[in-house]
Amino acid sequence: MQAADSLMFITTRPEVVFVRGEGSWLYDPEGRKYLDFIQGWAVNSLGHSPKTIVDALAAQAAKVINVSPAYYNEPMRQLAARIAALSGLEKVFFTNSGAEANEGAIKLARKWGSLKKGGAFEILTFENGFHGRTLATMAASGKPQWEHLYEPKIPGFRKLPMNDLEAVRAAIGPKTVAVMLEPIQGESGVVPFNDAFLEDLRALTTEKGLLLILDEIQTGIGRTGKMFCWQHTGMQPDIMTLAKGIGGGVPLGALVAKDSVACFEPGDQGGTYNGNPLMTAVGLAVVNEVAQPAFLRQVEDNGNYLMAELRAMSEELGLGEVRGQGLLVALELGKPVGSKVVDEALKRGLLVNSPRPASLRFMPALNVTCAEIDAMLGMLREVILSAGNGSISSVDLL
Ligand SMILES: *Cc1c(COP(=O)(O)O)cnc(C)c1O
Repeated sequence: MQAADSLMFITTRPEVVFVRGEGSWLYDPEGRKYLDFIQGWAVNSLGHSPKTIVDALAAQAAKVINVSPAYYNEPMRQLAARIAALSGLEKVFFTNSGAEANEGAIKLARKWGSLKKGGAFEILTFENGFHGRTLATMAASGKPQWEHLYEPKIPGFRKLPMNDLEAVRAAIGPKTVAVMLEPIQGESGVVPFNDAFLEDLRALTTEKGLLLILDEIQTGIGRTGKMFCWQHTGMQPDIMTLAKGIGGGVPLGALVAKDSVACFEPGDQGGTYNGNPLMTAVGLAVVNEVAQPAFLRQVEDNGNYLMAELRAMSEELGLGEVRGQGLLVALELGKPVGSKVVDEALKRGLLVNSPRPASLRFMPALNVTCAEIDAMLGMLREVILSAGNGSISSVDLL
């Protein structure tokens, strides 16, 4: 009997077991290498087992691993100060996951609504949005497959079409407290809100006295070439959530808010592991590296290179649109062959993700090299062109 049989079934996984990682590469027990353009779902910002994180973990583990959230610890304070300085949002609460950060954002908005807006609680969210897998964040998400899962749903969310300011205006009522969105919808296939919409939405929420909550769990911490995706625009949210990239692979998230909105009182919010020094020490090391202007410029340059090369390949092979910003990129295949491409790519030693039946998503380490991007493109081209003898053929695709 295989050890894996004891794992509760939640998804079908390929047979391969990864035992080692280095930068953009993963290795199986036979030493076969795989080029990783998933990186734990846009999580490993500095790649696999980077020295920065290994050193931060070892140094902090030797000092103190856990003190209790009821006491200060140094890395927690330093990381909070760093995020506040980088974002201009003054207050930070650390979490262990993205869903927990969003859950905290929802709680904070409801608390603020009870104090400042006569008990308003409703949060406007968007179709196809993804905010996590707790009961409240699933209710906030607009994933069609979740519409009737785990009933009854947590009430207080209303889903709107993307990039439609009039729909937002029409949906605002006396119970509305906030609007919540991902600046680029990641799980739905790298689908961006446009900058003008975000700026108009900021103006509208300010005018109506509503909170604007940005879920930057996938787009934050340098992923799009800016520290936070909203920094590409002229707007700033009231609340922002972070996770994924901030931990570089360890479980860490953050709820970040303007001082004027940070209205929790003692007893309202907490958690055993929140802000523990081991994870926040890693977060500090990751943020310090990613926030360097030269690092962010490299993300932008490499993202532009990846998109330009994908566009050229798409044109040559008659595929579809290339979308994205920085190193969060999607390619439309034109046909629902995404999972076939993913399976065939894995056989050839390449990890890519298909968020939608007809699209691929690329979320490499933020320090991926041009040579690695070229290697990925070469393998992808072979997969797409492999006619006849594989499970996928150019005839299938073109
Ligand atoms: C991944 C993700 C989440 C959930 O984060 P977890 O750490 O898996 O709970 C929430 N929102 C967005 C935009 C995400 O990409």
